[in-house]
Amino acid sequence: MSVRVRFAPSPTGGLHLGGVRTVLYNYLFAKHHGGEFVLRIEDTDQTRFVPGAEEYIFNCLKWCGLEPDESPVHNGPYGPYRQSERKEMYRSYAETLVARGFAYYAFDTKEELEKMREDLKTEENPSPQYDHRARKNMRNSLNLTDDEVKDLLEKNTPHVIRIKMPENDVLSFTDMIRGEVSFQTGLVDDKVLLKADGMPTYHLAVVVDDYLMKITHAFRGEEWLPSAPVHLLLWKYLGWDAYMPQWAHLPLILGPSGKLSKRDGAKYGFPVFAMNWTDPKTNELTEGFFEKGFLPEAFINMLAVLGWNDGTEKELYTMDELIASFDIKRVHSAGAKFDYEKAKWFNHEWIKRLPVSDLRLQIDSYFAASGIDVSDTAKLEKVIELVKDRCTLLPDFVQQGGFFFKAPESLELDAVKPKWTEEKKQFFVEYVDVLKTIGTWEITTIENAFKELAAAKAIKPGELQLPMRIMLVGGKFGPAVFQIAEMIGKEETVKRVEFALSLL
Ligand code: GLU
Repeated sequence: MSVRVRFAPSPTGGLHLGGVRTVLYNYLFAKHHGGEFVLRIEDTDQTRFVPGAEEYIFNCLKWCGLEPDESPVHNGPYGPYRQSERKEMYRSYAETLVARGFAYYAFDTKEELEKMREDLKTEENPSPQYDHRARKNMRNSLNLTDDEVKDLLEKNTPHVIRIKMPENDVLSFTDMIRGEVSFQTGLVDDKVLLKADGMPTYHLAVVVDDYLMKITHAFRGEEWLPSAPVHLLLWKYLGWDAYMPQWAHLPLILGPSGKLSKRDGAKYGFPVFAMNWTDPKTNELTEGFFEKGFLPEAFINMLAVLGWNDGTEKELYTMDELIASFDIKRVHSAGAKFDYEKAKWFNHEWIKRLPVSDLRLQIDSYFAASGIDVSDTAKLEKVIELVKDRCTLLPDFVQQGGFFFKAPESLELDAVKPKWTEEKKQFFVEYVDVLKTIGTWEITTIENAFKELAAAKAIKPGELQLPMRIMLVGGKFGPAVFQIAEMIGKEETVKRVEFALSLL
């Protein structure tokens, strides 16, 4: 049977890096086994609908290079892939469960539910749930006669369908990461399967869709582990046990203080989402790795090894290498700590590794955003090659390379002034004249002229290099100064030195 996995987000907000890691592990597993990766949108909770969230998920996956094989926008044989468009198919499964005695109608009103919670509240149990104890005294089809139920249904009395959890069973399954996991059914409440508006809840829809979409493996965050007993029973009660996917519950990603949250991002100054996300209700912006200047190659590589390794010390992987070596059983069951410094290290490594022509495509927009014309692609590629070792995040290229295209807007003259002398000024005045006469404009001729003039004036060239750098670059950074002069050309070099002299 061919491997089929799914990522099943609810479109309720930005995509946390834990979410992207879940996608990634699903994707790697599918590709490793030559299978399919399905993206299913779980939008049955209409009260949590957030405009733009679905499109945002697609954009993130695209940027990460994790394109689904089937999704609401990539057709496939098991669609529709948006649960709200599948609404009609869920009711019959819920009704089947009722008919088989595994679920029941519950007609309780909001007030009745509140009263139950109030009546059953004790010190040990401050928030009682609708469970095997509570259900005995509620207005549901377990307690009403068949005629009463029929009558209520005929009158369209608002109702939900709940699963009937066994009072005293132990359920277990083998998690691909954690091994055997068991649950006491008596501790789990009777979850709603079908809501009063006719929409399924996540619990019913996830099981029905994993079945109908022939999902073979389901990897999701460990926050879903408490729901597993409900899902196990649904697979069983619907008679589909033989088709239940193999599950793996992925451990949490930890931040500086416990579970990594989007608040950590704002607090510690690092991105937590794949791409920028602005909450349409609160207008709160959560920063993304994309906008921060990460390469998708680095982001993916960093996430892959956050909680997984191939048994060696290897840290740098291309997507193809990840696909070849990924093994879900080697994902650690303990939480993985996110380290922003390490994430930046990955980016720096990937900046150095990527072919310059690929890097250019991911960088030119940063120059454009700073109003720098980089339409001369040959020149841009040369600049990237020259400065890439000094760049960690993509915007660094603008800082490290912008002066090759545009004179610096400000000059750090304070770094020059304390040691500036009349002799040095005279040196540069004469150097400009020499530069104007250079026939073959290249590093050696520019540098030799510099050294000869310095020797003639008995000034150490080392003392003149910093001022020269500040004149051309604006600050104390950048590659070799004569290399810069060669690249920006004679006219521009002369212009920048003359301008700086006018200020000194
Ligand atoms: N819709 C669930 C979520 O939002 C999916 C959980 C699962 O993969 O089963 O994460």
